[in-house]
Amino acid sequence: MLDICLLGTGGMMPLPKRYLTSMIARYNGLDILIDCGEGTQMALRKKGWSANPIGIICFTHYHADHISGLPGMLLNMANAERKDPVLMIGPKGLERVVNSLRVIAQDIPFKINFHELKEDTEDIELEEGRIRAFRVNHNVTCYGYSIILDRKGRFDAEAAKRLGIDLKYWNKLQHGEVITENGVTYTPEMVLGPERKGLKVTYATDTRPVQSIIDNASGADLFICEGMYGEDEKIESAKEKKHMTFREAAELARKAAPKEMWLTHYGPAMIRPEPFMPMVNRIFPNAVAGRDGMSKELMFEDEKVGD
Ligand SMILES: [Zn+2]
Ligand SMILES: [Zn+2]
Repeated sequence: MLDICLLGTGGMMPLPKRYLTSMIARYNGLDILIDCGEGTQMALRKKGWSANPIGIICFTHYHADHISGLPGMLLNMANAERKDPVLMIGPKGLERVVNSLRVIAQDIPFKINFHELKEDTEDIELEEGRIRAFRVNHNVTCYGYSIILDRKGRFDAEAAKRLGIDLKYWNKLQHGEVITENGVTYTPEMVLGPERKGLKVTYATDTRPVQSIIDNASGADLFICEGMYGEDEKIESAKEKKHMTFREAAELARKAAPKEMWLTHYGPAMIRPEPFMPMVNRIFPNAVAGRDGMSKELMFEDEKVGD
């Protein structure tokens, strides 16, 4: 099960009831935060989630509305007694930007590791999947992210018994380890059924609609996409500032065909996104206007009740 929460849905500046764009994913005791604008720690607190399990922080780009909340968040994590290292992922300049912000948050009891993105597409391995970063098109270097979880095949106890594999190795084989005992090698493939469908969540904000988003959001269980402007007439501003209109986001979803799309990163001039949704839903029916604090549990297909 993968929990996803939109901490904030505001672009550029926060409104009284709208924090800046950020999302958090929770899987197996690891939290992955994407973007951390000013107030993200407040949004997390409001949701009631601890900052302690945040093990990975991804930045789409270094505009203030996506990173200026980092010092406070780091202090919050320290206060929540985070001790394990934290991995930060972001475009070129990552270490310099983070270290400048850390001047005001120096007493951090955990190590920070950096993964600076250089290629157009990069995979960062997780225990049971990966984070895929992909270049998008904003007025500074900007990346979208997919969180991809694999689902191994079901453990076949009968096969393990037939092969005479000692019980103490079952768990290791189930977790992908190769076992050699008395000169005999056992591989996970020998005791695992066919791989099952995993989960994918794709997040793209601060960008024009580009092919890399369609490729990466293709078949996603959830696609979270920016919608800076509701009105079609604002297309020129969208082009100039390298953002998107709702219609453009809807067209991306239609082409990528995810199971569901949530819109986020609304311009401060948009008080309510809902009036624009009928137009969006005509293009892509399963689209929802994201709201602060909105969350969803994504289940693996074989976890769903009735399966
Ligand atoms: Zn932004
Ligand atoms: Zn931006």
